[in-house]
Amino acid sequence: ARVGDIESSRRPSLLQRWRGVGSHPASEQSEARLIESFERARTLMVRDQLHRRGIRDPRVLDAMSQVPRERFTRGENGRPRAADVYRDGALPIGRGQTLSQPFIVAAMTQALAVPDDARVLEIGTGTGYNTAVLALIAREVWTVERDAVLAEEARARLQNLGFSNIRFRVGDGSLGWKDGSPYDGILVTAGAPDIPRSLVEQLSPGGRLIIPVGGSEHQRLLRVTTGPSPNQVETETLMECRFVPLIGREGWLGSEMSPRGEGP
Ligand code: SAH
Repeated sequence: ARVGDIESSRRPSLLQRWRGVGSHPASEQSEARLIESFERARTLMVRDQLHRRGIRDPRVLDAMSQVPRERFTRGENGRPRAADVYRDGALPIGRGQTLSQPFIVAAMTQALAVPDDARVLEIGTGTGYNTAVLALIAREVWTVERDAVLAEEARARLQNLGFSNIRFRVGDGSLGWKDGSPYDGILVTAGAPDIPRSLVEQLSPGGRLIIPVGGSEHQRLLRVTTGPSPNQVETETLMECRFVPLIGREGWLGSEMSPRGEGP
């Protein structure tokens, strides 16, 4: 199937509503040209970076065809350019953090394989880009970010885009978010030294946790699937990856970047 053949998800397209919101065009004509260049770059990104590399879940392809990645970068000196926003790599978002590479967002979301009526937990809101992709697929997204500035920016951005099925929290997501548990899926967008026990405990039976685990420079992306009882878990390695550290009680300790459990 070509990307153009993908049937749209049961959620209505938000694209119409997103046009023009929050931008200050020099003229309507230049705005239209700009939107067109982003849309073209997004279509090519979905085809060349995602579909061609094996991302086949139509819900993921459809969601990533809709979410305007250009709205998730700061664009400090003027506007972001389509070639930068949709390039095949991560983007710096300030405060030492990054907006994940499109392929990684797609691969993680596909690996989560949540049902349409799912409740999912995301750890590491960052810009909120992956949050938006999840929110087009799942019924509810609960997301935790430790950096209050990033969290507030993401909340405002996603609200402007019209999302109303996302809950935000500022805090240590290595401990999960008990209030919404159990979750059908948990996606962690920062690298941990080990699989946080709290996260596994907050999964429903048959739920999946997607998490990068390894050293601070380099990790393996794992999928942990729970069995009928909480003690039965299956762990698969999906790919090699590189994420910023998960800093917290069940992640890395903030000051020294040493894994938990090494102290007295
Ligand atoms: N998915 C994001 C990528 C964010 S980068 C995006 O697409 O934009 C990882 C994020 O995890 C950073 O914003 C970082 O501040 C956050 N983070 C690190 N440790 C955390 C923790 N213990 N709890 C919640 N967020 C954490």
